[in-house]
Amino acid sequence: MHEMILCKLGEVVLKGLNRRSFEMKLMGNIRRRTGRFGKFRVYSKQSTIYVEPAEETCDLAGAYAACKQVFGIIAVARALPCAKEKEAILDTAKTYLSSALTAARSFKVESKRADKTFPMTSIQLSQWVGGHLHEAFPHLTVDVHHPELTVYVEVREEAAYVHAPAEPAAGGLPIGMGGRAVSLLSGGIDSPVASYMIAKRGVELEMIHFASPPYTSEQAREKVLQLARELVPWCGRLNVTIIPFAEIQEEIRRNCPEDHFTLIMRRFMMRLADALAKDLNCRALVTGESLGQVASQTMDALAVSGDVTDLPVLRPVIGMDKEEIVRIARHIGTFETSILPYEDCCTVFTPRHPKTRPHVEEVREMEQALDVDGLVRRAMDGREVVKLR
Ligand code: ATP
Ligand code: MG
Repeated sequence: MHEMILCKLGEVVLKGLNRRSFEMKLMGNIRRRTGRFGKFRVYSKQSTIYVEPAEETCDLAGAYAACKQVFGIIAVARALPCAKEKEAILDTAKTYLSSALTAARSFKVESKRADKTFPMTSIQLSQWVGGHLHEAFPHLTVDVHHPELTVYVEVREEAAYVHAPAEPAAGGLPIGMGGRAVSLLSGGIDSPVASYMIAKRGVELEMIHFASPPYTSEQAREKVLQLARELVPWCGRLNVTIIPFAEIQEEIRRNCPEDHFTLIMRRFMMRLADALAKDLNCRALVTGESLGQVASQTMDALAVSGDVTDLPVLRPVIGMDKEEIVRIARHIGTFETSILPYEDCCTVFTPRHPKTRPHVEEVREMEQALDVDGLVRRAMDGREVVKLR
C-alpha cells in the first residue's frame, strides 16, 4: 500500500443537507490542484478526503503542499495505510515514523476505530502499539498529556492508517460554493489580501486591474500579474482583465475640480468593475479598502464611490490595521511583491488636498462635465484578458 494524503474537512461538515455538494466541489478542486503532480484518486469517507497516488511517478510532497492551500480543508496529514492487524499497524508505525520517533523525547499513541468489527477497542490498541513502540525506541517516555509526538492510528473500513500529527491547512469553504465576484486588484498590499479573504469564503474571483500607460510602466503591470500569480495557489485559475485607464484620468483632470479627482476616479473604477461583473455573471465587487486609511476611504468617500454600483461591495479588510493586513500578506506570500516600488495609476495624478467629506449630489454634478458612458465604453472596449493557470 502507498503513502497518501488525508484531508480533514473544516466548516464543510457543518453544512447539513448541502454537505454532499460541498464535498463534491471540494474534491473537484483538489483534483484540479493536485493534477500537475500526477494522477491521484480522490474520494471521501467519514469527514475525510483521501488523496491517493494512482501511479508510481506521483509527486506526493507536491500534492501535499498544494492541498494545504485548498480552501475547505482544515488540516492535512500524510499517512501510510496497512492491513487491519495489530502487528501490521505496529510495523508500519515503527518504520514509517521512525525518524519522528527517534527525534522525539516523549510520545503517545491515539487510536480511532471507525470499523467496530476490529477486535480491540481504541484504548487497547493504543496501549498495545504504544507499549511495543516504547520497547523499540527505549529513549522515549510516554506522556499522555503533552507528548512531543502523537502517533495516530485510524482503523477504517478498507485499511488502517498510521500518521503523525496533521498540519493546519487553509480552512475556509471550497471555492465555487460562494458564487463569483470581481476583485479590484492594484499593485498594493491590501487588495491581494482582500482577494484571498473573499476566496477563502468559497468565492470564485475574476480580477480587474486599471492600468494607465504611458503614465504607468510595463513593470507596474507585470507586478500586478505577478501578484495574481501568487494568488493562484489559493484562488485557483484566475483571469486578470486589464483596463486602459489613462483617458479617464486625463478627462477628469481636465474637467473636474482637483480636490475631487481621486473620488471621481474611484467611481469610474467601480463603474468598470460593475460592467465587468455583469458581463461575467458575478454578483459582488471586492476591494482592499480600509476605513480611514486614505482620504478616499472615509465613510463619506466610500458612500460616494459605492453610489455607482448596485452590487454589494465586499471590503474584507475594512476594519483592519495595516499591520494586520501585512501579517496576512506575508502569510499568503504576496507581501514582497506588493512592496516593489512601481507606480500604480492611483499615484499618478494625486490631488494635494483630497476631499475627505464629499457629497454625492455635488460629485454627480461635477461628472456632468464628462461623457461618462462613452469613457466607460471605450475603456471596456480596450480591455485585455490575461489567463493564469
Ligand atoms: P492597495 O494596497 O490595495 O493598493 P491602497 O491603500 O493603496 O490599497 P487605494 O489605492 O485607495 O488603496 O485603492 C483602494 C482599492 O481600490 C484597492 O484596494 C483596490 O481594490 C482598488 N484599486 C486601486 N487601484 C487599483 C487599480 N489600479 N486597479 C484595480 N483596482 C484598484
Ligand atoms: Mg493601491
